[in-house]
Amino acid sequence: GHAGDGDERRVLLAGPRSFCAGVERAIDIVEQALEQRGAPVYVRKQIVHNVTVVDELAERGAVFVEELDEVPDHATVVFSAHGVSPAVRREADRRGLDVIDGTCPLVAKVHAEARRFAARGDTVVLVGHAGHEEVEGTLGEAPESMALVSTADDVRELEFADGRPVSYLTQTTLAVDETAEVVDVLREKFPQLKEPPSDDICYATTNRQAALEAVIDESELVLVVGSENSSNSVRLVELSRRAGVPAELIDRADDIRPEWLEGVRTIGLTAGASAPPALVTEVVTRLGEFGPVHVDEREIARETVFFELPSVLRGDARRAT
Ligand code: SF4
Repeated sequence: GHAGDGDERRVLLAGPRSFCAGVERAIDIVEQALEQRGAPVYVRKQIVHNVTVVDELAERGAVFVEELDEVPDHATVVFSAHGVSPAVRREADRRGLDVIDGTCPLVAKVHAEARRFAARGDTVVLVGHAGHEEVEGTLGEAPESMALVSTADDVRELEFADGRPVSYLTQTTLAVDETAEVVDVLREKFPQLKEPPSDDICYATTNRQAALEAVIDESELVLVVGSENSSNSVRLVELSRRAGVPAELIDRADDIRPEWLEGVRTIGLTAGASAPPALVTEVVTRLGEFGPVHVDEREIARETVFFELPSVLRGDARRAT
């Protein structure tokens, strides 16, 4: 059939979706490290927060560890896209590990701001989620000068006795609208609040939320492809639910439960920045097994961001040295 057939289910494919430039680079780093150094290549934490990506790399010889004490001396270790605190870098150095840094440049940017703001004497408020690896790494840049908040109520409870200037930073994968509210409360509480030079929520997070918002009003159900520890994916589910549209986070096509689709004619489909595009294709195929579907691509922006591999992995850099 074609669009408009009464018996078809519509799938509104929100774009941009799936891999961002930082995730593509991090995966590429592990693949190149395996190729150039040979297995095993150790990876501290999940390289990106996606079970499919991690399983596939593990099959090819990547060994995922939680901490550096699980890595043999002088072995190759990749730091994940979420970044690490300076203490982890020092430890790797002390151990003589061959470090390849998979930290997304946009996370590294927030680290650099944390260092700069703390060095000029600020108290730095970081808006983010406690326990997330990115937050742990960023806080590690200046632990004695930073405070973590995640909600407006957290901001109201802040008490700084020393009268130092206050600035703020955010995690890269937060909800744009919720973060704006928290920052508004920060501005009320600290009228002299110093802003970061540019938004810390990254382009990929922002685009995926805006793309979903563009299809949400027409959707009766939203499916978000992503893993449960993927911050930006969970934010997409929450965004849908706040808009009153039921939403489910799925790792793979098999996770779709038939009862979710009962009476649903229009499905909004997206994927977090760490979810492979192939999984979205599989979800569309799976949806087709429940009845005819018409796929409607709704792309609100074209992403052209690209990050180079670290120089230690670039062929040209090796020839030049
Ligand atoms: Fe970098 Fe944003 Fe992708 Fe995270 S979601 S890896 S900050 S581009």
